[in-house]
Amino acid sequence: MASVYWVFRLLKKCNLVISDNVKRVLKEIDECMHADVGNSHSITLIGASKSQTIEKIREAYKAGLRHFGENYLQEAEEKIINLELNPTWHFIGAIQSRKAKKISQLFDWVHTVDSYKVAEKLNDSRPSSMNPLNICVQLNIDNEETKSGVSPDELESLIGELKYLNNLIVRGLMVIPMQRDDEYEQRKVFKKVKDIYYNLVNKGYDLDTLSMGMSSDFAAAIKEGATMIRVGTSIFGLRE
Ligand SMILES: *Cc1c(COP(=O)(O)O)cnc(C)c1O
Repeated sequence: MASVYWVFRLLKKCNLVISDNVKRVLKEIDECMHADVGNSHSITLIGASKSQTIEKIREAYKAGLRHFGENYLQEAEEKIINLELNPTWHFIGAIQSRKAKKISQLFDWVHTVDSYKVAEKLNDSRPSSMNPLNICVQLNIDNEETKSGVSPDELESLIGELKYLNNLIVRGLMVIPMQRDDEYEQRKVFKKVKDIYYNLVNKGYDLDTLSMGMSSDFAAAIKEGATMIRVGTSIFGLRE
């Protein structure tokens, strides 16, 4: 009996931690917004819930979080079907071609488009009964060989091609920069992304989303104009 009681206490404690974490991250977002008077848009907080349990997602939802990001289709599908809540689901992982169909049927957003071929697959399998799929083009801002994303040179031509895919709406850019510990260095790379983004907007591309910033760098990202941040560890704790 005693051990059941302690397990219950422990679970309760975990859940409290998640709601505290959501509150703390929201407060930090608020502080970053005020740190820069030019910042007036709102920030969407996405809980990056890969390899976290459905119970933890439920707790975060209870604490007010309404956007979740998943990286692996199979894991995500199980959560989306079983959650019995209706948050906005973002796909933020690498897209394997053969999984594009299912991804475009299950998700509201896909942040990791980096080729016309994948975009076309998502477009062709988006059910016409659903709203168009929101997408971000992933930009490989540090030109890392091992990382997904288009290079800054290829970005505009890809975005130009995507406007012919009627079941997709290109909302903006997504980046995962290299790990940098110093906020000044973090801001420098996010500013580079912001400049590329506004260059496109000024040319007439209808974009409204900058998906950048994770647990270790979201403060810097917000100060450089992020509109969506994807936060995992700071909300759910370390991944298994
Ligand atoms: C895992 C992941 C995140 C969240 O990372 P944390 O450092 O845990 O906040 C954000 N974006 C993407 C694409 C991820 O895969």
